[in-house]
Amino acid sequence: NDDQFKKVLSHAKEYGYVFQSSEIYDGLSAVYDYAQNGVELKKNIRDYWWKAMVQMNDNIVGIDASIFMHPTTWKASGHVDAFNDPLIDNKDSKKRYRADVLIEDYCAKIETKIEKEVKKAAKRFGDAFNKEEFISTNGRVLGYQEKINTILSRMAKSLENEDLADVKALIEELEIADPLSGSKNWTDVKQFNLMFGTKLGASAESAMDLYLRPETAQGIFVNFLNVQKTGRMKIPFGIAQTGKAFRNEIVARQFIFRMREFEQMEMQFFIKPGTQAKWYEHWKDARMKWHLSLGLGEDNYRFHDHEKLAHYADAASDIEFKFPFGFKELEGIHSRTDFDLKAHEEHSGKKLQYFDHETNTNYTPYVLETSIGLDRMFLAVFSNALIEEELENNTTRTVLKLPTVLAPTKAAILPLVKKDGLPEVAKQILEDLKWDFNVVYDEKDAVGRRYRRQDANGTPFCITVDHDTLEDNSVTIRHRDTMEQKRVKIEELSSIIKKEVDV
Ligand code: ATP
Repeated sequence: NDDQFKKVLSHAKEYGYVFQSSEIYDGLSAVYDYAQNGVELKKNIRDYWWKAMVQMNDNIVGIDASIFMHPTTWKASGHVDAFNDPLIDNKDSKKRYRADVLIEDYCAKIETKIEKEVKKAAKRFGDAFNKEEFISTNGRVLGYQEKINTILSRMAKSLENEDLADVKALIEELEIADPLSGSKNWTDVKQFNLMFGTKLGASAESAMDLYLRPETAQGIFVNFLNVQKTGRMKIPFGIAQTGKAFRNEIVARQFIFRMREFEQMEMQFFIKPGTQAKWYEHWKDARMKWHLSLGLGEDNYRFHDHEKLAHYADAASDIEFKFPFGFKELEGIHSRTDFDLKAHEEHSGKKLQYFDHETNTNYTPYVLETSIGLDRMFLAVFSNALIEEELENNTTRTVLKLPTVLAPTKAAILPLVKKDGLPEVAKQILEDLKWDFNVVYDEKDAVGRRYRRQDANGTPFCITVDHDTLEDNSVTIRHRDTMEQKRVKIEELSSIIKKEVDV
């Protein structure tokens, strides 16, 4: 909901996770910077993915391809011709919209009406209320639902047939008013290419038109044969990569969910033609398991299998996550056939084939792809973790329950007081632990306030040094989520933390 999302935004800023880019110049739309804690969380998510993909699979290797690629790459991939979004301008407000999003937003408003009816009925019927039954028997709700379905299917059809005039007609028929001015004065719908163009080379004559890559996948396809040969890889095998991608998104909103510069974590798995159905199921399953291993809650995930497929795919499914603004795509699993490798063979004139020693034949492999946005994963983890907790004594605390393996700081070392030699002992613990973990030292304010600060920061452990420590070499270790405190020996600290970091 809106409130939770606002809290996520302000907490991300206040605790040094995400800042607006160029904030002193009033920011840049849909561009964000990761701050001192954010950069650690982001790195930990990336590492967690990399470990699961590259380290744990002996048939997957990594690469780091450049953001700039030969411009023909994007002809071959279809991005020059087909990487478009339908855009429409409002002549009065001079605002620009994605036509499909405008229509989807309109449907979402109708959906809100349905939710209101359901809520009202739930109140009226109390315990006897059955949501499914109510929806299936209530004429008005069914009418709303039917309207949504009709609108969305007409939009999908018009977009598929590139009938942009009908998309505009639909917007006008629905009388979708500009949310600010209430005006309905629209331009025609135009296709808008999402790639950022730039130039390579100094002189005007020799400069070459380039694009910033809109996805990392193509860097893997063009390197396929080099990696296969030098790594002596046998099919099936995968190539993994993380890195920046750029899209000139028309509607940039919802914080780091949709950015113009973002990071992807992609893996292309090269397989024998005909085995794609098996591998598609395998990777859907493996990727869902990866998500569930972080413990963000099974109910927060669902698959959305695509009926309408992109030009390169023969099957596709999204893993959707329940963000504060509803279920939305977090990761895509695509069965891409040999579309990309064949296209690059055609445009480059080079063979990109695999020689199968067992059967003594050459073939162009099929590709199974898993593609996840690192920033979206960050938002999923962060928004899920932020909790206002009611405590027994009628107070509340803000706690960021990040999975320990992902938390930017694993432990804070706190001397109970700033004297009697306690800071020195605490600093020594810090010196010892910092070889293995990100740890911080904090001596400012009362210890209770320091606990709260670390809770809100997402630090899983607080280690407090008190006067008894000087006698028995023990400290108090407090766990963020349970707030339980235990007395342990200083030399046990490292293994206690390690146990929770290793998953
Ligand atoms: P959407 O439908 O949300 O625009 P997409 O289907 O275009 O996404 P893909 O091209 O499949 O996305 O990209 C793979 C992943 O990259 C997505 O699942 C998402 O996590 C991430 N991603 C795509 N576009 C953006 C963006 N503008 N900002 C942040 N992450 C993005």
